[in-house]
Amino acid sequence: MSIEENLKTVQAQIVAAAEEAGRDPAAVQLVAVSKKQPEARVEAALIAGHLVFGENRVQEAQGRWGSFEEGWRADYADLKLHLIGPLQSNKVKDAVALFDVIETLDREKLARALSAEMERQGRHLPCFIQVNTGDEPQKAGISTDALPDFYDFCVGECGLDVRGLMCIPPVNEPSALHFGLLKVWADRLGVPDLSMGMSADFEKAVPLGATYVRVGSGVFGDRVF
Ligand SMILES: *Cc1c(COP(=O)(O)O)cnc(C)c1O
Repeated sequence: MSIEENLKTVQAQIVAAAEEAGRDPAAVQLVAVSKKQPEARVEAALIAGHLVFGENRVQEAQGRWGSFEEGWRADYADLKLHLIGPLQSNKVKDAVALFDVIETLDREKLARALSAEMERQGRHLPCFIQVNTGDEPQKAGISTDALPDFYDFCVGECGLDVRGLMCIPPVNEPSALHFGLLKVWADRLGVPDLSMGMSADFEKAVPLGATYVRVGSGVFGDRVF
């Protein structure tokens, strides 16, 4: 299977899942997760016309997307890079410069740093709050208990443009439970976007309200490094 065919297949699955659930398929965007993928596969996706990508490490993303010739992004005006991995405070400057959406806002210190850096660079990027729906101690994300106050802090104190919520469900639990929970919280807070669902479960996330699904291996094949 080529990358182009994989993209078509995944898009068709998104459309089918949305239509079956009575949702507008255009309301669900595919974030192609290009982390740990060889350059050629990422280029194949770009050539196929795909323009929304997810990366989980700032440095790796800089290597891949920053290595293009100066000014290349002008030719891809609609290209959107989503940061989907943990963001360290010392990488905030680089992240704000490179990415278009920050999906992993999860603590006050980071919210403050992002707010200050966005102001400095004049780049007011949409953010998602990452929610640790399974309350897993080793996992990033804010607990649902702390979410309302954290949301108010990000929007009120920091002036961040919080558009939605993001989650990575625990591996051993039915992901649909976590997607449903994230949807409940998005509705409570009144945020429009939900980033949920990966290769194994994006078709379950769509009926539960996903507006972004993050698919890596399902588009590019197995990661190589
Ligand atoms: C790697 C990754 C994905 C994509 O995973 P696949 O199973 O390859 O689709 C999605 N979301 C996050 C946060 C990731 O780190």
